[in-house]
Amino acid sequence: MASLSKAGAALAALREDLAGEVFAPGDAGYDAARAVFNGMIDKRPAVIAQCADAADVVRAVRFGRDLDLPIAVRGGGHGLAGTALGDGALVVDLRRMHQVTVDPASEAVRIEGGATMSRLDRATQPYGLATTGGRISSTGVGGFVLGGGTGWLDRAFGLAVDNLIAVELVTADAEQVHANADENPELFWALHGGGGNFGVATALTLELHELPEFAVALLLYLPEAGPDAVRTFREVLGAAPDELGGAVLYLTGPSAEFVPEHLAGRLVCAALLTYAGGEEDLRKLAEPLLALPHESQLVGTVPYVDLQCMLDVAPGLRNHWSAECLTGLPDELVDVYCTRAADMPVPTPTRHIVFPQGGAIAAGPHQYPVPYRDAPWTVHPFAVWADPADDERAVAWVRDVRAGVRPWSTGDVYLNLIGEEGAERVRAGLGAGNLLRLEKVKRAYDPDNVFRFNHNIRPV
Ligand SMILES: Cc1cc2nc3c(=O)[nH]c(=O)nc-3n(C[C@H](O)[C@H](O)[C@H](O)COP(=O)(O)OP(=O)(O)OC[C@H]3O[C@@H](n4cnc5c(N)ncnc54)[C@H](O)[C@@H]3O)c2cc1C
Repeated sequence: MASLSKAGAALAALREDLAGEVFAPGDAGYDAARAVFNGMIDKRPAVIAQCADAADVVRAVRFGRDLDLPIAVRGGGHGLAGTALGDGALVVDLRRMHQVTVDPASEAVRIEGGATMSRLDRATQPYGLATTGGRISSTGVGGFVLGGGTGWLDRAFGLAVDNLIAVELVTADAEQVHANADENPELFWALHGGGGNFGVATALTLELHELPEFAVALLLYLPEAGPDAVRTFREVLGAAPDELGGAVLYLTGPSAEFVPEHLAGRLVCAALLTYAGGEEDLRKLAEPLLALPHESQLVGTVPYVDLQCMLDVAPGLRNHWSAECLTGLPDELVDVYCTRAADMPVPTPTRHIVFPQGGAIAAGPHQYPVPYRDAPWTVHPFAVWADPADDERAVAWVRDVRAGVRPWSTGDVYLNLIGEEGAERVRAGLGAGNLLRLEKVKRAYDPDNVFRFNHNIRPV
């Protein structure tokens, strides 16, 4: 009883003190507040503290510690496993903290911990500046960056963590600390891939790059032409400058002006080239793909911010995805990859994607716990569907894609693209050689593993 009344009084005080808003079971708005991107997640936190600023985060963490609650951190809510929430946990929900401040003179941007990619890209675009961001506009910058961060600009500008200048963090002791190359350098190192293990990032500062022009080429092929398209995409990227990125993928043809009627609602193969430069140069680079018989093409300059929301997927659908980092993309693997497309749940927003790496990713700083940077390609089966009756089929499809490509896996893992796949995969996602060092940082900043709803690093 004593602890119940203590909890009740503490909750009442939190409601009173927080500039943001607090939701507990039974409150109107609780169910909406606990919804995340993946509609399969149904977790029931004890308390959701929607913080308005860093002082609120300090208050919320103190509240959680006083009541001995584990703490989940919510940025954009895009994590597959729903680690933005925890059953019976305190959720530090950062969605109200979404301010983005661009400093064009120093080519840097400060982003509050709950801002989405859309807010970041819309803030930097007017200055002709950009940095590596995720490929969907509603993804949270916080989870994306702290987990590594790959996107259309990564071959040109490196992983998102390669652009990380500073982090403002609230630790498990409710202390506000700064981490950068000079202050708390071990913590700063660990935040380059170690995710939400070390505290709540109330703000991140990222380096920006000039992006005066941006162009895309999107070509659609019949599924039977897929193997040729993938091989040609491989050749194009193999000889490309770092400014060229993109993906080759299978998807359901959307109902869009540029999609011919006979492809709408059917499986199609798409080659997408993204180019940090102008249309004329991109057309030259895309020639081999344009020379293949295709059903539709779209080539031209486009504001980067527009591409960033072109492939958006609605929240609340059912999600299951995974990824394998690949040693290469030999013909045999191309055939395995393309064959697996036939089993995709279609028509759904599911995508079966191969991303190129290389460029600035491979050249980037090698000291950080992001071991997948040397893989030249990544395959990312991304199943999204609406009907629970399709659960088994969709999950099995993702599993089969992984199993099929495993002979070519580097063994490294990009943790942002997977859900809960066990401790070995987490280890492979951080790098076995980095683990002890990460565990020491965890012990220094979160010895009780309060922040455990993540790809968890245990304090040694
Ligand atoms: C549709 C879609 C597209 C995606 N595209 C890409 C892509 O192109 N490239 C890519 O790299 N990834 C991509 N991802 C994966 C995405 O980067 C990860 O799921 C990432 O964790 C999402 O971050 P979030 O803040 O939205 O998620 P959340 O679920 O809110 O957070 C995930 C975890 O990150 C941590 N976290 C989040 N914010 C903070 C913070 N401010 N401080 C401390 N910890 C924090 C917490 O541990 C939390 O459990 C995509 C995901 C989806 C659903």
